[in-house]
Amino acid sequence: MLNIIICGAPGCGKGTQSDLIVGKYNLKHLSTGDLLRKEIAEKSELGITAESYISKGNLVPDEMIINILSKNIEAFDNDINGMILDGFPRTVAQAEALQTMLSNSGKEISTLLDLSVEKDELIDRLLKRGQTSGRSDDNLETIQKRLEVYELQTAPVSDFYKKLGKYAAVDGMGSVEEIFGRIASILDSKK
Ligand code: ADP
Repeated sequence: MLNIIICGAPGCGKGTQSDLIVGKYNLKHLSTGDLLRKEIAEKSELGITAESYISKGNLVPDEMIINILSKNIEAFDNDINGMILDGFPRTVAQAEALQTMLSNSGKEISTLLDLSVEKDELIDRLLKRGQTSGRSDDNLETIQKRLEVYELQTAPVSDFYKKLGKYAAVDGMGSVEEIFGRIASILDSKK
């Protein structure tokens, strides 16, 4: 089973690369950002609360996101090839909760892929996406806040997986195909 975390700053290409990984390795894709945006579109109570954090560039509270994620993971049957977690865990507390969740069902993380992209390029990509995404968080002020939150709260998640020996850095600069080639060579060695 290949259970992957894909991680990196906002705009690093997690979503794009996740789609390619899912296609090649036949994994289940869980994106916490997509799950939250679905709740927002449905105007559910959870969505309305989440939107108040997201539109300011802050993280949604751990308890809320751990709840959503655990429900979705439990819904997977056991004969899947594995899963890719995109946008989760984003704090060390989430990483700890994930360890417990997976070990309860006899699963473990194979590796965390950490996509690194230069800051100017991240801002450029997110501003471009903002022209068409309709996302309340793709504007310059919120992008800068998200990058700060990433450095403070999410970058430490990498150290958590480094200590477990489950960390792989990926150069996220270049074409989509080049980056996917780098990822595939890491994943092929884990199979
Ligand atoms: P990006 O990586 O471009 O910021 P995402 O779609 O992964 O995009 O996340 C968008 C927003 O959703 C985040 O800024 C955050 O507010 C919220 N969010 C997503 N995943 C999590 C998470 N695991 N914990 C807390 N908040 C989250």
